[in-house]
Amino acid sequence: MQDFLETNITYLQGVGPKRAELLSQELGIMTFRDLLYHFPYKYIDRTRFYSIAELSPDFPMVQVKGFIKGYYTEGQGKGKRLVADFQDETGTIKLIWFKGTKWIMGSYIPGVEYIVFGKPGVFNGIVNIIHPEIEASEKASTRISSALQAQYNTTEKLKNQFITSKTISRFMGTLMKQMKFRIPETLPSYLITAHNLMSLNEAIRKIHFPSTNAEIERARYRLKFEELFYIELNLLRFKTNRARKYKGFVFSSVGDYFNSFYYNNLPFSLTGAQKKVIKEIRRDLGSGKQMNRLLQGDVGSGKTLVALMSMLIAIDNGYQACLMAPTEILASQHYNTILKMLDGIGVKVSLLTGSSKRSLRKEIDESLRDSSLQILIGTHALIEENVVFNNLGLVIIDEQHRFGVAQRARLWEKSTHPPHILVMTATPIPRTLAMTLYGDLDVSVIDELPPGRIPVKTMHFYDSERNKVFGFMRKKIDEGRQIFVVYPLIRESEKMDYQNLEDGWDTISRVFPAPKYCISIVHGKMTPDEKESSMRLFKEGHANILVATTVIEVGVDIPNASVMVIESAERFGLSQLHQLRGRVGRGSDQSYCLLMTSNKLSKEAIARIRVMVRTSDGFEIAETDLHLRGPGDIEGTLQSGIPFDLKIASLGRDGQIIEHVRNIAEGILAKDPLLEHEENYVLKSELGRLFSIKQSWSNIS
Ligand code: ADP
Ligand code: MG
Repeated sequence: MQDFLETNITYLQGVGPKRAELLSQELGIMTFRDLLYHFPYKYIDRTRFYSIAELSPDFPMVQVKGFIKGYYTEGQGKGKRLVADFQDETGTIKLIWFKGTKWIMGSYIPGVEYIVFGKPGVFNGIVNIIHPEIEASEKASTRISSALQAQYNTTEKLKNQFITSKTISRFMGTLMKQMKFRIPETLPSYLITAHNLMSLNEAIRKIHFPSTNAEIERARYRLKFEELFYIELNLLRFKTNRARKYKGFVFSSVGDYFNSFYYNNLPFSLTGAQKKVIKEIRRDLGSGKQMNRLLQGDVGSGKTLVALMSMLIAIDNGYQACLMAPTEILASQHYNTILKMLDGIGVKVSLLTGSSKRSLRKEIDESLRDSSLQILIGTHALIEENVVFNNLGLVIIDEQHRFGVAQRARLWEKSTHPPHILVMTATPIPRTLAMTLYGDLDVSVIDELPPGRIPVKTMHFYDSERNKVFGFMRKKIDEGRQIFVVYPLIRESEKMDYQNLEDGWDTISRVFPAPKYCISIVHGKMTPDEKESSMRLFKEGHANILVATTVIEVGVDIPNASVMVIESAERFGLSQLHQLRGRVGRGSDQSYCLLMTSNKLSKEAIARIRVMVRTSDGFEIAETDLHLRGPGDIEGTLQSGIPFDLKIASLGRDGQIIEHVRNIAEGILAKDPLLEHEENYVLKSELGRLFSIKQSWSNIS
């Protein structure tokens, strides 16, 4: 039976080699199984009739019952068309044909009752249906197929070869008739019973040929359940096995470094969320298992401090720790922050980046080897180059989305006894999505900002209102505040973007002339030294305005900067806008984010700008993002470790199911980690079928 499902689609009656090739090219349908798993994207209810009076062109497909009054032609040349006035008790619409008109007139007779089906449109105020489907009313009542008709995605190419949604539905019917057996179950029977699921056999048949909406719901649920369950089971299986295979360093105690920092140097008290997360990390570090934890916290939630305190636990236990950041600016900012925080504690900290001088590098190498260097901070130079630690116990990666799974893997390889890993990200990802995208990581969340933060006021201005914006900036500068002005730079090489940046710079230096005002600039074409000195000018309060491309996107901390102006805001994604806005609102004054856009905006751009103006909750923004774009586009999805496209479930919308099946999968693995019990055979074989061939990614973590 399994073999039957693997039969090449060519052998389905009505398909043949040519159509088979098309189906495979266009829809990836190669086997009978693939066809069965090509699910409808919607259903049309053929039990519902509309009255002509209520029709409007916003309706999708509609069905009306009535009589053709008579035929006539309209238009000339290419626009020439056959028109029939079609009538029920409530009104009249036009049916229109551009082709096959003779046949139409011969087939559908005025005065006979017909059912007309199609998409309503409107022309000159009169509702019409172009090329409708027509069926004799009495024949419709004996129609065998179900009332809810499945609609399938097709492509232009397929339609040109006359493979429409209807054709696919017909193929489906043919296959079901040939398939006399029950489709073998792919979930253990105890799950089917416990969770009251439809059998696979019923679900597959019903999803294509349902008779009620309730059936569609149950079938969809069963199929989503299965799809997500196997993804979670697969992720968790590796996590469990890794935990069994690798021992973690045990950091049993909190010692002098941690304590003297905590009691003497900590300039404020920790937020509840920071405390909770540090506890979670401490538990991991002392557990004997190797930690792989993702720390999510909105911009400004205080992740750096958590990182520092975790590193102190490592060095209290005699190990070295390192902290990686995605850019040199960020790395050196972390370095300076941490140096200051550790003042007087006696921890040796160094900074290593791509532009570190050779002499410094040599010194770092030596002090790493003899263990006198306890904390090393840097860019990915830390993992990409020949850096050898004596006893690296903890690696912290800031701003995870710049580091892929592969880079994490390199860290693993650095040691036979892999260090604990803490990955920090400010890209808010809805929890359910995080669970799946980073299914191999445990997730901690800082869901609280330090006290006293005043939410940033966000406003939207069109380019035509620029003078208002300049006026506002002038006022804030007079009050002693500093301002970021950010330009989009989608790709470093795009000439146009630099043009925008340069024009913007010109305008701003004209409106804010020297010597009264001082403006500094940072962009990707500058050398690290140039960037550094521009940043310093701003950081130390000499420059009033920092004009920048998105290099400042992540992590820069300048409390006196209270205004963020984002130019061409419509060109930024939501998460980027949110990150940028997070650069302000760190001090004790009211901060502002001004979103500048062109006067013409797409619907989606308007939706993005609106959310930004309405809320500063990173998770709400992420949810919206997910809705607008779908998870496929969200940064990080590529490294998700899901080697195939989801056929029916959605990582964004089916969060509840994900959570549910994940718990179930966890329960199963707790009892049977290698899935060796007889009742779990089916799990093992399905995992093999779904993941074994495409499995290379999983070797990584
Ligand atoms: P992010 O999570 O974006 O990396 P940071 O670690 O840069 O945030 O912290 C943002 C700012 O908040 C820093 O200036 C930091 O000193 C401050 N901060 C962190 N924790 C607290 C706290 N518990 N109370 C007050 N301020 C804090
Ligand atoms: Mg940070």
